[in-house]
Amino acid sequence: MGSTWTTAAEIRTRVVGGESSATDICGQSLARIDAGDSEIRAFLEVTREHATLRARALDADRAAGGPLGLLAGVPLAVKDNICTRFARTTCASQALAEYRPPFDAAVIERAERAGAVIVGKTNLDEFAMGSSTEYGAFGLSRNPWNLECVPGGSSGGSAAAVAAGFVPVALGSDTGGSVRQPAAFCGVVGLKPTYGRVSRFGLVAYGSSLDQVGTMARTVGDAAALLEVIAGPDPRDSTCLTDPMVDLGSRLSDAALADAARKLRIGIPREFFGAGLDPEVEQAVRGAIAVYQRLGAALIDVSLPSMPHAVAVYYLIATAECSSNLARFDGVHYGHRTSRPPQPRANPTEHLYSASRAEGFGAEAKRRIILGTFALSAGYADKYYGKALQVRRLLNREMQDVLSRVDVLIGPTTPTAAFRIGEKSANPLQIYLADTYTIVANLCGVPAISIPCGFARCGLPIGMQLMAPHLGEPALVQAARLYERETDWHNCHPPAFQ
Ligand code: GLN
Repeated sequence: MGSTWTTAAEIRTRVVGGESSATDICGQSLARIDAGDSEIRAFLEVTREHATLRARALDADRAAGGPLGLLAGVPLAVKDNICTRFARTTCASQALAEYRPPFDAAVIERAERAGAVIVGKTNLDEFAMGSSTEYGAFGLSRNPWNLECVPGGSSGGSAAAVAAGFVPVALGSDTGGSVRQPAAFCGVVGLKPTYGRVSRFGLVAYGSSLDQVGTMARTVGDAAALLEVIAGPDPRDSTCLTDPMVDLGSRLSDAALADAARKLRIGIPREFFGAGLDPEVEQAVRGAIAVYQRLGAALIDVSLPSMPHAVAVYYLIATAECSSNLARFDGVHYGHRTSRPPQPRANPTEHLYSASRAEGFGAEAKRRIILGTFALSAGYADKYYGKALQVRRLLNREMQDVLSRVDVLIGPTTPTAAFRIGEKSANPLQIYLADTYTIVANLCGVPAISIPCGFARCGLPIGMQLMAPHLGEPALVQAARLYERETDWHNCHPPAFQ
């Protein structure tokens, strides 16, 4: 029988070997959700029937001797901005409260083809805009380590579902840190691939030059396996790279890791350890750096001088892109349509658009649409949006230069551990500033991973981040695994869910 903390790799081994059926594994996952999710609220919808049917079909395939994929029988949670034909895809917005996509996202097709059993759709900040999963239209999610704290966001439901042991793996999306930051807050692994590594066909767009689907798990190996399954070319997404995905599993074997540490060059960007970094987080990350040093890795001090501008650049580009992407939710093409009649002398078309959007979007989405529309408007576009693009290019050049000299960069994922529910909601700027370490990887399109590296005194987990050059996922997961192998953080679980 599997336990709450059985990894995806172990589940697959059991299902392939006939020790467990996919149906039993699925039933156990659903039972844990039933028992624990009324407190956490990680899921917006549990896809019980779909999951049970998939698991049964998988067991029948196995009995008939059919081939079994890399995720055979593995329960998977999916962020609710990823389209599924079998369940609503709400983006935690009233605008899409009843939206049932007529198609599956590419990542859904691939995960199911590999044998994953999707047990539900997880909560997020509306349209993935936020860092706390407090801004969804259907209520907030809680951190399994402390129910008074946020799980991070915007993929907070996915991170919480993995941390609470409901599922071993989950899908999220990462535009500015939404996979890595909640992973850090919930003490799990979060992997954002290279821009273009994974097809975004069926991912509801937020910031199109930044968005990537990412993977979450309790181990580096599981996060890598899920990435391996979902990555690769797709003609339906023109930004999807044509490079085939490489085998990541073989890079994580003990043989492959044998002398990897002594060849590893780790860059420590000065800007990741400046003002605003909580001393407890800094201490945990410095502790991780010491582990790499003990293993024989070379440590190199580097600098990304434009990084202090990254938050401003990101919030101009992301909001500009979202103001355009969210234009489609007008009550005609997509989205909630108002039932209020127009005032007697009002233009009925204008009324339909404006009332539908006013009713459909929450406060944070509106704030961003307004900000982005302003940044793109005549007279300001050069000053704000154009300038942001210039600084982004500068940052990219600095990143390329630094990553030509080292294999990976290391730093904290977030400036602090998880904050309390409501603590920052009055001050959006404070929340934006906390994205400073994660957005750099999105602005530069490079892959990055967050892995647990310790705990704050209050008992909340702390994450550290590694980044690698474009298409450097093999080096990235290898470096992450080297550390994971030396430490026990991934075996620590929230006391309430033991
Ligand atoms: N917190 C960032 C934002 O609000 C990142 C969100 C994301 O990655 N989807 O934009």
